[in-house]
Amino acid sequence: MPATVGQVVRLLEHRYPVGLAADWDAVGLTCGDPSATVSRVLFAVDPVRDVVDEALVLQADMVVTHHPLLLRGVHSVAPVDHRGSVLHTLITHGIALYSAHTNADHARPGVSDALADVLGVTDTVPLVPEAHDATVGTGRVGRLDEVLTLEAFTARVGERLPATAQGVRAAGDPQRLIETVAVCGGSGDAFLSDAARIADVYITADLRHHRAQDHLVDGGCALVDVAHWASEWPWLPVAAEALRADCAAAGSTVDVHVSTIVTDPWTLHRGSQP
Ligand SMILES: [Zn+2]
Repeated sequence: MPATVGQVVRLLEHRYPVGLAADWDAVGLTCGDPSATVSRVLFAVDPVRDVVDEALVLQADMVVTHHPLLLRGVHSVAPVDHRGSVLHTLITHGIALYSAHTNADHARPGVSDALADVLGVTDTVPLVPEAHDATVGTGRVGRLDEVLTLEAFTARVGERLPATAQGVRAAGDPQRLIETVAVCGGSGDAFLSDAARIADVYITADLRHHRAQDHLVDGGCALVDVAHWASEWPWLPVAAEALRADCAAAGSTVDVHVSTIVTDPWTLHRGSQP
């Protein structure tokens, strides 16, 4: 029996409760009739044109993304810009769009758990626990499954995350030994001081010059900066498999697909050692 959009939403929100989302966030169902049937779901990081085109080719009935399509107030969804165009295409083809953003970041297991797992970081706890419940929160910190130098750890990150033009860059002594690792999928520079207190290295995305430099000169931990998309992608297969299993347990069959289209905005990188 196929699932319905409403049933998929309920199962996703059981794993990623909406109450865990940040106040500024806009998670949930963006379009789609809750009573419509769903037999195929595509998981992706970004609700962009390439992903919608992939959903059309796959004949998916629903797209689940990490990033919301509509985060700020809108007064028109006319197909005259990217967001309106994406929304029109989805509605025209009867494809539902759902996003699990900061609720998927904060839930356990969530986005940063998937990042920690793929990098071999074990025994994790939230880097920044929620005030009302210390078992959930932002980022994770745990033990690396073997002690590695920063240089070797950086190589591992490059091997285990999906390839991007940005690649992986690290800051700190390449021979520094890494035992305790803090991770935060997505833009995590707000949590540099939290990582500095407990970790040998902090891996996240979108780190900026001044904050990274201040952190390092103040004796903070080593840093590994990866592409935003790559830091969140490892959650997709985990979430997809969880939905497939949850639907099966509820007596419904859904086919799940994980997008491998690199939707990170950076497409070229030319680096050279100084
Ligand atoms: Zn993100």
